[in-house]
Amino acid sequence: MSEFDLIKRHFTRASPGAVLGVGDDCALLQVREGHVLAVSSDMLVSGTHFFPDADPYQLGHKTLAVNLSDLAAMGATPRWATLALSLSDADEDWLERFSAGFFALAQQHGVDLVGGDTTRGPLNLCVTIMGEVPVAQALRREGAQVGDDVWVSGKLGDAALALAHMQGKLVLSEQDYAACAPALHSPQPRVALGLALRGIAHSAIDVSDGLVADLGHILERSAVRAELSLAGLPVSGVLRGHTAQLVSCALAGGDDYELCFTAAIRQRVSIADIATRLALPLTRIGRIVAGSGCVVHDADGQPIQLQNGGYEHF
Ligand code: ADP
Ligand code: MG
Repeated sequence: MSEFDLIKRHFTRASPGAVLGVGDDCALLQVREGHVLAVSSDMLVSGTHFFPDADPYQLGHKTLAVNLSDLAAMGATPRWATLALSLSDADEDWLERFSAGFFALAQQHGVDLVGGDTTRGPLNLCVTIMGEVPVAQALRREGAQVGDDVWVSGKLGDAALALAHMQGKLVLSEQDYAACAPALHSPQPRVALGLALRGIAHSAIDVSDGLVADLGHILERSAVRAELSLAGLPVSGVLRGHTAQLVSCALAGGDDYELCFTAAIRQRVSIADIATRLALPLTRIGRIVAGSGCVVHDADGQPIQLQNGGYEHF
């Protein structure tokens, strides 16, 4: 199969939201009046971000999901994506399942795949995602204010616990692994939450490298400090039961793809309403104070020493 047949068969779908989609030298895109373009890229490398034998459908889902998560954290509406991939060979079955996972999530979020690049090489997947957000309404990292509540969506740490099991660092029962694995393999980007938080949150970020590391970016950019309590963190019953892993997975685990955001106290009722409407738990985990850095208190009010702030590649 030629490169062009491969693109045609597996990566060319209708793109009603684009002026021009796959097939020419460039795609042509138009944002709606009064909006700005939000753009982000995320690359998934075999052996670093996923196991070489990862399920291709889940990999297709996750490749797009991690990118949608960045748009969610910005409060942007997803519109378009490009996909650059290198493959060691054109495995028809693999490609079919990968693109099925990718397009299922794309369709769910109204994203058109409008271009990309396809080359031979070690398996590597890079998406550039594009969305739009009304002028001056994006959720930025620099807006946290002293007195804000710190919130997080969903649950933290299950993906890291599942990964530790896959890496042989611990052994989960079949039932516990089954409960945690979807968080790792099929994260659900919090797009609807990001949109709902426009005009409500002062700052937001998606948690991809661990809560403390990612919240740290908000704190640094906003020049404030956060005080959190370990007992207040939303974690699953499974993680709660693995006390030795609780701190590292919930605070520094990575791959959560939840949103962490700050908002004024007066927004508590609105945020509770959003949680109900989206059927998504939103948990108040701490507050913003003057100063710098982040402290997490244990049940006795003692600060927890974090050995590893989050996942860093270098
Ligand atoms: P060029 O030589 O101009 O870079 P290519 O031959 O690489 O063009 O690609 C042909 C068309 O297919 C372009 O519109 C490109 O955006 C699109 N394309 C290539 N690879 C992919 C992919 N993996 N997914 C979606 N579109 C792709
Ligand atoms: Mg090309």
